[in-house]
Amino acid sequence: MKAFNHTNAKTLVEAKTALAGGKAEILAGGTDLIGRLKDNILPAYPATLINIKTITPSLDYIKEEAGGLKIGATTRLADIAAHPVINQKYTALAQAASRVATPHVRDMGTIGGNLAQLHRCWYFRKPENRFPCVRKGGTTCFAMMGDNRYHSIFGNVNKCIAVHPSDIAPALIALDASVVTNVRTIKAENFFDVKFPGNTVLGPGEIITAIQVPAPPAGAKSAFLKFAIRKSIDFPIVNCAVRVGGGAPRIALNAVAPKPYRAVKAEAAIAGKPINEANAEAAGAAAVQDAKPLTATKYKVQIAKTLVKRALLAAV
Ligand SMILES: Cc1cc2nc3c(=O)[nH]c(=O)nc-3n(C[C@H](O)[C@H](O)[C@H](O)COP(=O)(O)OP(=O)(O)OC[C@H]3O[C@@H](n4cnc5c(N)ncnc54)[C@H](O)[C@@H]3O)c2cc1C
Ligand code: SF4
Repeated sequence: MKAFNHTNAKTLVEAKTALAGGKAEILAGGTDLIGRLKDNILPAYPATLINIKTITPSLDYIKEEAGGLKIGATTRLADIAAHPVINQKYTALAQAASRVATPHVRDMGTIGGNLAQLHRCWYFRKPENRFPCVRKGGTTCFAMMGDNRYHSIFGNVNKCIAVHPSDIAPALIALDASVVTNVRTIKAENFFDVKFPGNTVLGPGEIITAIQVPAPPAGAKSAFLKFAIRKSIDFPIVNCAVRVGGGAPRIALNAVAPKPYRAVKAEAAIAGKPINEANAEAAGAAAVQDAKPLTATKYKVQIAKTLVKRALLAAV
């Protein structure tokens, strides 16, 4: 690993100032970033890492406030998974946090870092930047012509077919959450983008400070389900979060497209109907109506369909 400077930021302003110039990067739990740096996967290496866990007032908190839940950006996934109020009222989020990686990663990894993590396309992650693909400023998508069995079933965005890997993202979208930064508040479903090389709409100097989740409508329930090759540790092949009851249903999938995917056709299919086997199955079919899988990702369509059905049935 090349050398870099390390700064313990004391305030958000200090962190923002240190980010100016584009040669520094935020460090939270380091579970994504340090691996990336060790493997030297990107053409440019940050000169400085800015630790935001030292900021005061701390960004590590879970608060219930009038109108909902507020989670600081450096709150660890293990704390979210274990929190009694989140388990009871924001169930999909607790279930999603409990399914991320391993206990060790959940003890280090933060909610802000989970949303801002880079994708896991194996060409993109190959050490020593051996595949300078589109997401690194190149012209070729190596996955398009190579092994793309874990890639998108909903086509490309900006010529990239890598999927967004977060388990937390669909839970936040289903719960109608917002991402708060030092600059603005963004609806979770509008927070993701496909850039060089990032996966968010964050601009230069922009730092996630908190996640806001509105109190669920009376009678609403939520659930999260994940299909992965290994149960103990693995990124999702497909995951799904739903919130139903007390208003319009919300259904989100991830690992199926370059950005988390809100399944609006599935929401329309189940809206106003009782959640039973037949209606949940119809919603599952509607969720994948627009899928355009590659030959190697056809199997993911059936998984997505089934997860939507099962998540709806699990929420009632
Ligand atoms: C072995 C392994 C298995 C995994 N499995 C899963 C899985 O099953 N499901 C899943 O969802 N994830 C999985 N992950 C990803 C993991 O959840 C993320 O690595 C973790 O949540 C990132 O949080 P962090 O605090 O460690 O972020 P860091 O590694 O510190 O940062 C990640 C990125 O986010 C940026 N960043 C961090 N915080 C902020 C902020 N507040 N504002 C702006 N930018 C910020 C950093 O600059 C960096 O670019 C896995 C990771 C590993 C290593
Ligand atoms: S899928 Fe995206 S990240 Fe992977 S090789 Fe293609 S352009 Fe690069």
